[in-house]
Amino acid sequence: MIDLRSDTVTKPNQGMLEAMMQAKVGDDVFKEDETVNILECRLANMFGKEQALFFPSGSMANQTALKLHTNPGEQVICDKFSHIYNYEAGGASFNSGISCNLIDGNRGMFTAQQVIEAINPDAFYYAKTTLVEIENTTNKGGGACWDFNEIEEIKKICKSHNLGFHLDGARIWNALIEKKESPKQYGEIFDTISVCLSKGLGCPIGSVLIGNEKIMRDAIRIRKVFGGNMRQVGYLAAAGIYALDNNLERLAEDHKKAKEIGELLSTMSIIKKVEPVETNIVIFELETSVNEKDFLRTLEAHNIKIIGMGSHKLRIVTHLDYSSKMHDKLLSTLKELTF
Ligand SMILES: *Cc1c(COP(=O)(O)O)cnc(C)c1O
Repeated sequence: MIDLRSDTVTKPNQGMLEAMMQAKVGDDVFKEDETVNILECRLANMFGKEQALFFPSGSMANQTALKLHTNPGEQVICDKFSHIYNYEAGGASFNSGISCNLIDGNRGMFTAQQVIEAINPDAFYYAKTTLVEIENTTNKGGGACWDFNEIEEIKKICKSHNLGFHLDGARIWNALIEKKESPKQYGEIFDTISVCLSKGLGCPIGSVLIGNEKIMRDAIRIRKVFGGNMRQVGYLAAAGIYALDNNLERLAEDHKKAKEIGELLSTMSIIKKVEPVETNIVIFELETSVNEKDFLRTLEAHNIKIIGMGSHKLRIVTHLDYSSKMHDKLLSTLKELTF
C-alpha cells in the first residue's frame, strides 16, 4: 500500500524503536524524566528560547499557546485556512473563550497590511485583539512557505500594537529545509512556537511548545488542565531526539518527490489545476468531467491512497515511509490512468 494521505502515517523504524527502548526515564511530574528534559532543552536552544514543553499533540500545544496569550472575550487574528480555526474542534472558543478574526489570505498566508486592517479599534464594544497567529508551512494552503520578510513586517505591527505572535510550526521543519532558514530566526520573531515531531520527522507522537520563561510560566498548568500531564514520557521524547538527529535533512527528498508528482499531474488532461508545490504537499483539482470518488477508487485499486479535500480538490503528502520504489510506481500508475 502506498499511503499518501498525510505525513502522519509513518511508523518508527528499527533505529527509532531502539532509541525509544533504551531511553532513560523518570516521572516527569517531578521533572525527573531526563530524556524529555534533554529534548525540551535541545528544542529551546535550537530556537534560541528559554523553555520548551513536550505535548501529546500539536493541537494541545497550540491551544495552550492561545490560552497563554489571551483572556476570554479577546480575539486572535489568523488565516481562514488556519489549523487553529479549522481543525482544532473549536478549541479557541471552548478552551480560551476567544474569537478568531479570519483573514482572507493567499494559500494560508497574508500580509502585514491585512493584519493592520484586522486589528479592532480600541473601543469598548469591540473584542480586544491580543494575538496574531500564522502557520508555516501552511497545511490547508498546500505546504506553502512564508516569505520571511513578510513575517518580519507582521512582527513590527505586533510590537507597535502590543499583540502576541504565535507560530503554528507543525511543519516548520519543511520550511527550514526548503528555504534554508534557521530556527533561531524564528525564535527571534515569535513569542511562542509549536512544532510537531509526528509529521515529517516521523515520530509516533509528540509536539513541543517553545517560548521564553515569562510567557511559558503557566504552560505546564494549562497542559495539566487540558489533561496532558506526563509521567515516563522519555520513551516518546527519545523518538523525538532520534528524529532530530536523523530525519530532518532528508525532508528535502520528500520535497523533491512532491515536486515531481506535481509536475506530472500538471501534464495530465484530467487535471484542471495543480497548486504550486513548495514542500511535501501537493493539492490539485480534477476536471469537472472526472468524478472525484471514481478517481480515488481507481487509485485504491492500484493500492494508492490519497485524500479528498472537497470541492473537487485532492491532496497528496510525501513522507519518510514513501520510498523511491513507491514513487516510481505512483508516477507510472498516474501516467497510465485513463478516464
Ligand atoms: C497536524 C497539525 C497540527 C497538530 O495536529 P495534531 O493532530 O493535534 O498533532 C497543528 N497545526 C498544523 C498546521 C498541522 O498540520
